[in-house]
Amino acid sequence: MNQAFGYNNINLPVIKSSSSLQEIIFEWKNEGLRIGFVPTMGALHEGHLSLVKLSLENAHRCIVSIFVNPSQFAPNEDFNSYPRDIQGDLYKLQSSGAHLVYTPDENEIYPDGIQTGIMPGKEAQGLETDFRPNFFNGVVNVVYRLFEHIKPDIAIFGEKDFQQLQVISEMVKDLDLDIEILGAPIIRDKYGLAMSSRNTYLSSEELVIARRLNKIIYKTAQNISDGMTVEKAINDAKVLLLEANFDKIDYVEERWNKLITAVWVGKTRLIDNC
Ligand code: AMP
Repeated sequence: MNQAFGYNNINLPVIKSSSSLQEIIFEWKNEGLRIGFVPTMGALHEGHLSLVKLSLENAHRCIVSIFVNPSQFAPNEDFNSYPRDIQGDLYKLQSSGAHLVYTPDENEIYPDGIQTGIMPGKEAQGLETDFRPNFFNGVVNVVYRLFEHIKPDIAIFGEKDFQQLQVISEMVKDLDLDIEILGAPIIRDKYGLAMSSRNTYLSSEELVIARRLNKIIYKTAQNISDGMTVEKAINDAKVLLLEANFDKIDYVEERWNKLITAVWVGKTRLIDNC
């Protein structure tokens, strides 16, 4: 049936409408199966697949959503050029053992636009919000709607987006949603660069620069554990980042006992933490 949508060699159910999704989920719940959920924006890499693996270890069924959420992009950001590769994603998800892929379109998620919405809580203050003021608004609203459609028992989020993980955990607690949130460790390439769909934007020269980021933040974290003040360690880190040819530093900060950073290489924004 999926062939009708133009996907080759995919046996995995790919569902576009929330009503069809409800029917399948209803059956699974009747059978007493625990449902795990991995929300993504597609252009999948090993980081995403590690979330699927963690979901499969903790629930009987794994649903992955692929939805490039317009409401979390600012007008000057890369919504239109964001990498999209649905056929490649479905291959990867099929091999990873996921049970169902939910690919709603915008009408399914926002039938009337965003009229009634929710607001992110205090964990959203600072860091990303200082540079992308509406980002977490977009994130909590789309995740809340996806949670409503899927009603998962567990949902998996990557620690790469560490502030996002905190914002979602806070949302689930504040709204008393009966969903367990699991964080998954950052998956890196062999040079330590945190995998990201946006890494495909990097030229080979930019990739060399990007791969210095993890070394600098690990060194900074080491300096702090060796007794350097956080302020001095972070100032040193900023100097090292500029020397390493990063074009712009949005932030390097300590929060939740982590060192969290967002920097630019050319037109590509990288985030990382350790
Ligand atoms: P995205 O498709 O970029 O919205 O990411 C979907 C989910 O995958 C989020 O929970 C991310 O934190 C997670 N994720 C993205 N990259 C990585 C990575 N390198 N390691 C672990 N999780 C990741």
